Amino acid sequence: MSYNFDGKITVVTGAASGIGRAVAIAFAERGALVACVDIADASETVNVIRKSGGMAGRFICDVSDENAVKSVIKEIAAARDRIDIAFNCAGIGPDGVRIPYVPLTETSADNWQKIIDINLTGTFFCLKHQLIQMQKQGFGSIVNTGSTGGDRFAPGFHAYGPSKAGVIALTEMAANENAKLGIRVNCVCPGPTYGTQMMINTLASDSEMEETLKDRVIPMGKFGRMEDVVQAALWLSSDLAAHTTGHSLFVDGGMHVKP
Ligand code: NAD
Repeated sequence: MSYNFDGKITVVTGAASGIGRAVAIAFAERGALVACVDIADASETVNVIRKSGGMAGRFICDVSDENAVKSVIKEIAAARDRIDIAFNCAGIGPDGVRIPYVPLTETSADNWQKIIDINLTGTFFCLKHQLIQMQKQGFGSIVNTGSTGGDRFAPGFHAYGPSKAGVIALTEMAANENAKLGIRVNCVCPGPTYGTQMMINTLASDSEMEETLKDRVIPMGKFGRMEDVVQAALWLSSDLAAHTTGHSLFVDGGMHVKP
């Protein structure tokens, strides 16, 4: 299936690495003008896009800071008086860099708050200011990034599971509120995905995790690839999904239906 995003003003948060980077590049390859938003420097993503003839700009922004989000969304929208598409992917894992096993009784208030601030409140701030712009223009498509961890609450994931369950809930609420306004809001929910820094760090620090997940947790018996998540994000964002809103699309080898 091929997509055409020619001239679409597209915001991607978390575009400096991993899934966000892959999705930003995929949009640009299909003609979108991509605003690469990240707390880290997304120059590498922008350079990759520009070198292959695409158009992209870099925006430094902490999604957990509402004023920063508001001003970056305004700045992006001002260029062409619209935002067509947003993919909200900025997020952190349970300890920021990998998946550790930490029971709730050992979860500190600071760690809890940090994950909620970035994964849930950060998605809320992005969604809120994207919706304000899209309501003015009367159209738009937003895809948030949840996780199978926001549907199946694995032990030891402490704030991560609730933060991603919140993203799924926000998606459904926003879809309902905006369904008659020409704006679709969906969510892509990856399971364990190869090639992302969090998964590289996790597999390096736990030699048994990969086989355990493949044998006992993922019905298809394999991890996903970033490309699998890219394809889901492209479809949900595209006009081919014109009648789909409020949906959480799991890209997890069936993990979310494992009995
Ligand atoms: P990643 O660490 O490679 O990318 C996350 C990006 O978000 C980074 O570029 C980081 O700088 C940015 N970011 C972090 N905090 C930020 C903040 N406060 N403001 C702005 N940007 C910020 O991670 P990834 O594995 O590609 O994950 C991307 C998304 O996918 C996350 O929301 C994650 O929870 C979700 N996810 C990942 C997996 C997986 O297997 N990797 C599985 C399920 C869900």
